[in-house]
Amino acid sequence: MKKSKLLTLITLIMATALLAVGCGKSVADKNISTRVEEEKSITWGVKSDLRLVGLLNIKDNKLEGFEVDLAKALTKRMYGDDVKVNFVPVTSNTRMALLKNGNIDALVATMTILPERKKVVDFSDSYFTAGQTIIVKKGSKITNPQELVAGTKVIGLQGSNSVQNIKKVAPLSQVLELPDAAQAFSALQSGQADAMTSDNVMLYGLVSDNPNYQLAGKPFTTEEYGIAVNKGQKDILNKINKTLAAMKKDGSYNKLLLKWFGQIPGFKVGDVQ
Ligand code: GLU
Repeated sequence: MKKSKLLTLITLIMATALLAVGCGKSVADKNISTRVEEEKSITWGVKSDLRLVGLLNIKDNKLEGFEVDLAKALTKRMYGDDVKVNFVPVTSNTRMALLKNGNIDALVATMTILPERKKVVDFSDSYFTAGQTIIVKKGSKITNPQELVAGTKVIGLQGSNSVQNIKKVAPLSQVLELPDAAQAFSALQSGQADAMTSDNVMLYGLVSDNPNYQLAGKPFTTEEYGIAVNKGQKDILNKINKTLAAMKKDGSYNKLLLKWFGQIPGFKVGDVQ
């Protein structure tokens, strides 16, 4: 075989091998930031059953809330106006898998930055500080989480760290785990438990709409929320962190906080002690 032909053949084999490696990559492994710029579309995972944070408004079938607005604002500032923003509703239990299998590009879904989660996904800098507590029906004899003694029941969300945290504060209470906030709250309303535990910001969303329920006791944890992306997605993560910092600096982040939480009696953002 002539030298030039041999070279062509080697080049061809190498190109095919590279292509095969490329095709073998899972969706979640590709550079999300480049893909967003090329396809002019990004998909965020958000909560959809939590007033204030992320709620599907059945009047117009649109998602609304602090995290929804934050995702929109970040997209606009990171990629410009012509990138389409898609939302996929997630629960505490489904969010990790949906991110890992590439159904979504990034999660902004009340997700606490935890060491065990950091082994699986990467987090942005914290964008919100919450704290866990409980809600009870008004008139309940339970006035704080420590009063959830033997014989009581408390509802938590599957996939949420609150189901472990409540056991440290109320070790003898029976913890019932339900798939999402809507089901958890309706179980509480139907009298199937004495309390429901979650992050205060989520609980404020529930009680703001249901005046017969109230928060009971001060938060017993500190939850730093991070935006999660798949491991190795340094480009989008850097963009998110830079943009978050810029939004905090120019006041637009504060405007979002005020828009969603400014009118909630008793709730001061970041006040978890
Ligand atoms: N922020 C906590 C967590 O990430 C509880 C709320 C939630 O599950 O979204 O586990």
